[in-house]
Amino acid sequence: MFDIATELKKVFTEDKLRLTLTDRYAMAGDAGFYYLLPRAVVVPVNEDDIKKLFSFSRQHAIPLTFRTGGTSLSGQSITDGILVDLGKHWRGIFPQENGKTIRVQPGAIGAHVNHQLRSYAMKIGPDPASISAAMMGGILSNNSSGMCCGVAHNSYHTLRSVRFMLPDGNVYDTAVPEDYDRFAKDNALLYDGIAKLQQRISANRTLVEKIRNKYRIKNTVGYSINAFIDYEHPLDVFAHLLIGGEGTLAFISEAVLNTIPDKPYKTTGLLFFENPVVAADAIPYLKSTDADALELMDRPALHSVEDADYTPAMIKGLPPGTTAILCEYQGTSAEEVQAKIDNAFAVINALPLLSRLEFSTNAYEQAKLWKMRKGMYPSVAAVRAKGTTAMLEDVAVPLENLGKAVTDLQLLFTKYGYTNAIIFGHAKEGNLHFLVTQPVNKQEEIDVFAAFNDELAEIIIHKYDGSLKAEHGTGRQIAPYVKDEWGEDAYNVMRELKKLVDPGNLLNPGVIINEDAKCHLKNMKTMPVVEEEVDRCVECGYCENRCPSRNYTLTPRQRIQIRRSLHRLEAEGNKVDHDILKKEYKFSGMDTCAVDGMCATDCPVSINTGDLIKRLRRENHSGFANKTALQVARNFSLVERMVKLALRTGNMVNQVAGKHAMKKITRGIKTVVRDFPLWTDSITKPVRIKTTAVAVPDVVYFPSCITRMMGADKEDDMPVSDVVKMLCERAGVSLFIADHTTGVCCGQLFSSKGFIPAYKHTVNETINKLWSWSQEGKVPVLMDVTSCTHSLQTSAQYLTEENRKRFEKLVFIDSIDFAADYLLPRLHINQQKNRIVFHPVCTTYKMNLVQKLQKIGDACAVKADIPFLSGCCGMAGDRGFYYPGLTASATKDEASEVNGRYEGFYSSGKTCEMALSEATKQNYQSVFYLLKDTTDK
Ligand SMILES: Cc1cc2nc3c(=O)[nH]c(=O)nc-3n(C[C@H](O)[C@H](O)[C@H](O)COP(=O)(O)OP(=O)(O)OC[C@H]3O[C@@H](n4cnc5c(N)ncnc54)[C@H](O)[C@@H]3O)c2cc1C
Repeated sequence: MFDIATELKKVFTEDKLRLTLTDRYAMAGDAGFYYLLPRAVVVPVNEDDIKKLFSFSRQHAIPLTFRTGGTSLSGQSITDGILVDLGKHWRGIFPQENGKTIRVQPGAIGAHVNHQLRSYAMKIGPDPASISAAMMGGILSNNSSGMCCGVAHNSYHTLRSVRFMLPDGNVYDTAVPEDYDRFAKDNALLYDGIAKLQQRISANRTLVEKIRNKYRIKNTVGYSINAFIDYEHPLDVFAHLLIGGEGTLAFISEAVLNTIPDKPYKTTGLLFFENPVVAADAIPYLKSTDADALELMDRPALHSVEDADYTPAMIKGLPPGTTAILCEYQGTSAEEVQAKIDNAFAVINALPLLSRLEFSTNAYEQAKLWKMRKGMYPSVAAVRAKGTTAMLEDVAVPLENLGKAVTDLQLLFTKYGYTNAIIFGHAKEGNLHFLVTQPVNKQEEIDVFAAFNDELAEIIIHKYDGSLKAEHGTGRQIAPYVKDEWGEDAYNVMRELKKLVDPGNLLNPGVIINEDAKCHLKNMKTMPVVEEEVDRCVECGYCENRCPSRNYTLTPRQRIQIRRSLHRLEAEGNKVDHDILKKEYKFSGMDTCAVDGMCATDCPVSINTGDLIKRLRRENHSGFANKTALQVARNFSLVERMVKLALRTGNMVNQVAGKHAMKKITRGIKTVVRDFPLWTDSITKPVRIKTTAVAVPDVVYFPSCITRMMGADKEDDMPVSDVVKMLCERAGVSLFIADHTTGVCCGQLFSSKGFIPAYKHTVNETINKLWSWSQEGKVPVLMDVTSCTHSLQTSAQYLTEENRKRFEKLVFIDSIDFAADYLLPRLHINQQKNRIVFHPVCTTYKMNLVQKLQKIGDACAVKADIPFLSGCCGMAGDRGFYYPGLTASATKDEASEVNGRYEGFYSSGKTCEMALSEATKQNYQSVFYLLKDTTDK
């Protein structure tokens, strides 16, 4: 019997295969509302692997679907065949010609590409809202665009050249002149077929006219058949058909894009109109003023964010029907922007405005307006009813029909009872997004969705001559409407094209061309009601790139998707798969989540998957485990002494038996006992904290347990606690360090693992001590590890009533605050370093301390960098000792960016410093060492 796993193993090494149920269920959904379980997931690393995949697919008649960021919304990056995951490799980004062009590979994230272009003041044309998660393979294959790029700067129009592989394994590059003849010779059938289609189209004037018309506005329905009339050589035609081809024609291996200027100067304002028709009628006038962004927001959209702190207060009082346009002018200089807006006022002042919010060049005010605009989708999606799907739609109509289309859409929402539906969008291009929430768990609900879609198509296609998908691609959702929108002639061209390239229909079948008129109603992603965090998730994938376990086990989105899959399997009565998946989830979902919570910062609906995992860990602990943890907490002084003894012994073993001896020994034990912690070369010795007795101190210093246990430094003789003392002496800050700190801890060790009784005990004991050391809250408490500061600052709900009152009076100062506000102003910098780098720990972001860290760096070094790719190191307190693969995968990108080219390496958390030291083979130290080495007083 054919077994796909066995057959794939004959072709690919195991590191390129993902075959467990977890691997497959984690890739069963993208950001859209369709769901297909892949038979296998393959992670190719080069073109040779892709060639093997094409051949495997042909030999066994198993379809292939490429996936990069998986943020597609129309169901084009899922499959029940083999899912080809390109997001792990293929990340090359190479600026060329002084930033005028850029060569990219499919796995490069759009925002990372723009980061590489920043120093040239350039950016790529396509600007999807999802750019921080979407990758170039998807941006090109969906012909993505966004708020400012319009039609002119989308992927199609900014493509310089592309390298691709056909399903027969032949590779062509439009940057290589010889490839044009080679294409004609080696792929004669395709070459001739394209040439014939070209002739057929140019002989049909009505069709040529239709094509020209349809691409005057944004349009991603069907193939980009404008390529047939825009280009002459069949290789160029085919190259441009790949843009928007949604992975149904070939594999894009590399592309070169023309870039556009990134204009840093802006002025932004809000214009209000009585109703959508008046607002839409103003768009052509505003467009004539060379506005860079014109974002329309209807009254329900404004209403959805009117309570947010970033929304101007006036919005609340606006009458029903009011429609706003966020208007922005950009330029390469302040003068250019001023000239633009001066000219624009002549037009704006003549518009029938209800009111307006004056234009501002203040970056903070601008950010608030954009936050309001971008907050609309999450504000509705996050509060949708449990079990419903958030459907983000995307249509475009010619500008003269825009106002009428908004009005018709609003009527359609009323008819279908979509009371919370909102409309917003890139009005400059006639592009409207709208969000409706609809369950698709039962047939009656799917019927409602079907009827709504049909009516929508009628309005957009037939009444207003628009496109059913302006930016998001055809996928499975719009495939049944392609013929309706384009007509028979154009549809036949598309169908024949697909057949020419992929006669076996093995490349992403069902997407763009699908003969099943009901395909958009099949394989819909049901939304079981699971739990608070899971139910809010829209599976957009924005969280994935920041997650430390993204290249090790699962991402936050996948952790949530598997929770949903478990519920679906249970409902289907598939106990076998359910139990296997549940068992696998312990390691991939729970044990290897760093619970850092950084996912919440990128999540449009603010889900902290770390909190979900902590709760699951808590629920999974037996009474016995909780009791044991509580015993450990109660005897933490003893535990601390034992750990110190073990660390001293370990360090002695290394001294006697060689510096990597402990690493080897623990690695050996770990092969037998999986949960055994691994020794790392960055582990340092315990230190003895020297107490100071000051009657009226400026600050009380509470050295964290990790400082006490591993506070010695690899290179510097002075432990961090002594460095703090020394700096305080230099700065004239009087410091109190209590006796008997042994056993006192913020409790993070227990809370991150979900041992709540143990955590409560620990944190309450600590507050007791701090209350006394701080003279009942009169003296602020200095902490030397940022995550411990954050942990204590957020502990209130776990405190007894008495301790909560104390907590309110206590002041905790983190090391970064202390260094920036207490020490830096009182110290003299005498030896500035040349170039240094920071690793901001996760809580630095959560506590808004990044700017202060930068301030310290700017004072102490000529150049202080925060790596663009820095993120959670995956250490999660002690988790990295148990799962070294987690920290290794989490720190890989940051380590390659840092690449040893600095004079100093600093952070503010001992275990994170250890993880980064291990990854970069450099010595990361507390930020206090930076002050010690650069100041003399
Ligand atoms: C909240 C949200 C907002 C969005 N906003 C926008 C927006 O403003 N504008 C916009 O245009 N889109 C938007 N999108 C849609 C989506 O994010 C974009 O289309 C994005 O560019 C897709 O990129 P991806 O890497 O996620 O592609 P994926 O979803 O992984 O793949 C997209 C398609 O590309 C194919 N593909 C990928 N790599 C290759 C390759 N190497 N060769 C051949 N085919 C390949 C896949 O098979 C698939 O068909 C949004 C999505 C979400 C969830």
